[in-house]
Amino acid sequence: MTSLPPNQDHHAEDASFYRTLLESTKAIPWRIDWQTMQFSYIGPQIEQLLGWSQGSWVSVNDWAERIHAEDRQKTVDFCVSQSQQGVDHEADYRAITADGEYIWIRDVVHVLRNPDGTVDSLVGFMFDISERKKAEDKILKLQEELETLSYKDGLTGVANRRMLDALLEVEWAKARASRHPISVILVDIDFFKQYNDHYGHRAGDQCLKRVAHVLDTAAARSRDLCARLGGEEFMLVLPETDAAAAQQVGERCRKLLTREGIPHASSSVSGSVTVSMGIATVVPGSQDDLSEFVELADRRLYQAKANGRDRIEAGVS
Ligand code: GH3
Ligand code: MG
Ligand code: MG
Repeated sequence: MTSLPPNQDHHAEDASFYRTLLESTKAIPWRIDWQTMQFSYIGPQIEQLLGWSQGSWVSVNDWAERIHAEDRQKTVDFCVSQSQQGVDHEADYRAITADGEYIWIRDVVHVLRNPDGTVDSLVGFMFDISERKKAEDKILKLQEELETLSYKDGLTGVANRRMLDALLEVEWAKARASRHPISVILVDIDFFKQYNDHYGHRAGDQCLKRVAHVLDTAAARSRDLCARLGGEEFMLVLPETDAAAAQQVGERCRKLLTREGIPHASSSVSGSVTVSMGIATVVPGSQDDLSEFVELADRRLYQAKANGRDRIEAGVS
């Protein structure tokens, strides 16, 4: 548009050609005079897109007022500062339609300068990017969902091992820095193989869900975490919890599980589902190692099994 046509006839022809071209695209062309801040042109297609007539776009205020309140200030500030610096730019914002809806617009702005370098006018195109934005929103939502799903155990809905590993490391570092005790409880369902054999695998899955829920309820403080390690093993992470308090949490688990009363006819320790637990507590110092700490809980769980199951071991070793 800036190159000079060879003669007047062609000029008129070219102008009408360009106009036809501009007004037949889906992108809406516009031009604002920088001195007066008035629209010197806006494509008639604007009416079809936003419902505001072509003639109603008089000044830059008409544009600003038709931007969603949440996007207005930052869009206007950004466009004004870019224009003042003479920088071409793009802005995405929600435009308000005449019937009160919103349409996502991408405004692509080119700054035209006078020979002395000052800004003469702004020319640009508005593109309707609603479909793209809708797709982007959907992708974001899916990604968020995936994120939560990838930290959740699919069967029981409690945290999975991945979450446990991530969180345990953070809590361990926090405990070390603040010199607070941290406790973990390893939980394993007693005679679960027999449970599956007796009631079937599907009932076994239901049992896992109920046990997970009980454990999750017992670990009641907001920073407590209940995670499924796999199979019929769970771990409770109890930050800022000393040995006595961890013991109480363990006992609460047993009490709630007894109350839940999931029948287990082939258990040799009880008529209902029970668990064995190994507890470890430490105020981690610089010598202490997280995996050794977890191994300690594991050894105690093994002790609980060996000592008859349906019990808590938190011994001194
Ligand atoms: P113990 O008291 O010594 O812990 O004996 P146990 O039978 O509970 O332990 P064992 O390790 O021998 O058996 C665990 C069983 O858990 C075997 C396996 O079939 C079952 N299991 C593991 N994961 C799942 C699952 O996702 N669903 C179901 N239904 N069963 C599972
Ligand atoms: Mg096991
Ligand atoms: Mg077991």
